[in-house]
Amino acid sequence: MSTTHLSEGQRALIESALVLRQHQLDRQLAAHHEGLSRAEHAREVLQDEGHDAIQLEGEREIDLALSDLEVRELGEVSAALRRLQGGRFGLCADCEAEIPFDRLQAEPWALRCVACASRHEQGTRRGA
Ligand SMILES: [Zn+2]
Repeated sequence: MSTTHLSEGQRALIESALVLRQHQLDRQLAAHHEGLSRAEHAREVLQDEGHDAIQLEGEREIDLALSDLEVRELGEVSAALRRLQGGRFGLCADCEAEIPFDRLQAEPWALRCVACASRHEQGTRRGA
């Protein structure tokens, strides 16, 4: 079935790592959403009482930034799972080279080989 360089066993390892990460991110996101609604509620109470809500506002922004990161990572993890099921997993998105298993094990959602990834990162940093 496999159309890439990975063995069935390696694919299974990566798949379980991805599924685990997906669950972790789901839980973290749920916790942040809970934190957000608590902060919202506390802010309303404080405002009603005329207190300063700057501290809470800061915490809310940290929660929002974290949630953004997690949503993005969740997207990458889901995309990696789809690639894994589609049989195109582990090939560099830029040069189609086979991404070594070691790299995939450390970063199962990796889209590019090491060389392309560092080129890509430099490119986005310059563009930003
Ligand atoms: Zn590449």
